[in-house]
Amino acid sequence: MRLVVDLNRCQGYAQCAFLAPDVFAMHGDESLLYDPQPDEEHRENVVRAVHACPVRAILLDAVNGSLSTAEARGER
Ligand code: SF4
Repeated sequence: MRLVVDLNRCQGYAQCAFLAPDVFAMHGDESLLYDPQPDEEHRENVVRAVHACPVRAILLDAVNGSLSTAEARGER
């Protein structure tokens, strides 16, 4: 799977790092590090992180930046 975090939106709430620690990690207080191509085994946790992000900064399965968070959430 592929994911992108919009770091301009990310406020460092760390919900994602809590829910999917194998994919997201906080570096310092506000800086987020993440794996842009995590293994499928992490999908369930990543989906939880997508839903938990207060500012909806995580785009899942983004291809060429064309997939919105709404699409990633299946809301479209
Ligand atoms: S949950 Fe969202 S705002 Fe918080 S660190 Fe993760 S991507 Fe950033």
